[in-house]
Amino acid sequence: LWNQVLERLQVELSRPTFETWIKTASAERLENNCLVIITPNPFARNWLQKYYINTIANVVQDILGKPVEIYITVAQGDGVSNLGEQKVTGYLPNQSIAAETVPKKGQTTTELNSKYVFSRFVVGANNRMAHAASLAVAESPGREFNPLFLCGGVGLGKTHLMQAIGHYRCEIYPDSKIFYVSTEQFTNDLITAIRNDSMQIFREHYRAADVLLVDDIQFLEGKEYTQEEFFHTFNTLHEAGKQVVIASDRPPNQIPRLQERLCSRFSMGLIADVQTPDLETRMAILQKKAEYENIHLSKDVIEYIATNYTSNIRELEGALIRAVAYISIGGLSMTVENLAPVLQTPSEKVEATPEVILTVIADAFGISIEDLKSNSRRREISWARQIGMYLMRQHTDLSLPRIGEEFGGKDHTTVIYSYDKINQLQQSDRALLQTLRQLSDRINMMSRSHK
Ligand code: ADP
Ligand code: MG
Repeated sequence: LWNQVLERLQVELSRPTFETWIKTASAERLENNCLVIITPNPFARNWLQKYYINTIANVVQDILGKPVEIYITVAQGDGVSNLGEQKVTGYLPNQSIAAETVPKKGQTTTELNSKYVFSRFVVGANNRMAHAASLAVAESPGREFNPLFLCGGVGLGKTHLMQAIGHYRCEIYPDSKIFYVSTEQFTNDLITAIRNDSMQIFREHYRAADVLLVDDIQFLEGKEYTQEEFFHTFNTLHEAGKQVVIASDRPPNQIPRLQERLCSRFSMGLIADVQTPDLETRMAILQKKAEYENIHLSKDVIEYIATNYTSNIRELEGALIRAVAYISIGGLSMTVENLAPVLQTPSEKVEATPEVILTVIADAFGISIEDLKSNSRRREISWARQIGMYLMRQHTDLSLPRIGEEFGGKDHTTVIYSYDKINQLQQSDRALLQTLRQLSDRINMMSRSHK
């Protein structure tokens, strides 16, 4: 079956795409209408999952004459968790996803990302104190630093550290109640409780925590009722000697419209900040990340990437992923020269033809160019079309009506609507931003090679 699938895909996809993403994968088994596909590393898994799963599913369905569910996983035995980016549901370590993690009625599950553990956290001058404090709290919660208040800019490791505390506790005491919750989630739970007249359950739930980890507390700003409720939750836990860990993008006294009494509670334990990492730390982070993802990088390349991304670790990691994608799509080798065009000027847009853009979009979303030009309102197609319009506006000088024509004669108001929508979304949706960048890179690359 897999060979047949390969044959078909070879025709449907562009050659670099096929060579890089499809040929390196293999199919494990077909059982109960489920086909398991194995990829060599988590990166390939994510890529297939994101862009090609529909194409593969369609081909398999064509061949077998019935719909099949596709699961994509990572080959085992390389020391990498085959959970990839996937989040582990519940707060227990991944080997024991037990019955307890089933959410009780009316409550949302807390989730810890399996990657956010101490062993994957690189300690540097920028985060030494925050790391030491987190470790101390993980070892003896409710003692010294209560609450522990982690603060610092976006993408510097606060969430990672606070979840590492959760993982650590769960490993030693699988029964301990570790609740990780974003402030938004806490607020939503509260609203739900009010609407369902189930405040009692809400309170009991949060006040039963052994360790309560609350992320992005700056979002309490101006939310009077949530502040009120959180104040009581906090006090109950604190008085019972339970640990509270809070993360915020700024110190308590700089959160506007935060009740004075909460501000003083937040300040009574330890406030530890995370700063931007220095070059050495950034290199160490890349090195570690590459090891876990099974990617080989030379010292030059690591240094090059680390030099170009200085202020945010999430972006640093994003750059690594983009670099690997760019290199493998182009069939290039991982050298500084090859990386320069994609990393040095992350936002540069090369002038592209509409054909190139349509080809890249169709290929990435596993649909045809005719689909893009059609009037189909199927969700995937109209989503791909909107992204296509956005990118065409960015990569060409075409007028709005001309872009509309390229997409099968759509009205210019449709183009502007799509552009605004994607532009809005990408400002808050990191995954989308990442996708747009990857697509932009591919458009750039194809345009360069067409010149
Ligand atoms: P924040 O919550 O401060 O915005 P995150 O904890 O989400 O930041 O970190 C952003 C990304 O950077 C995550 O993927 C995280 O694993 C990674 N990261 C941050 N700091 C480190 C570090 N010191 N070592 C390894 N990875 C890190
Ligand atoms: Mg965070």
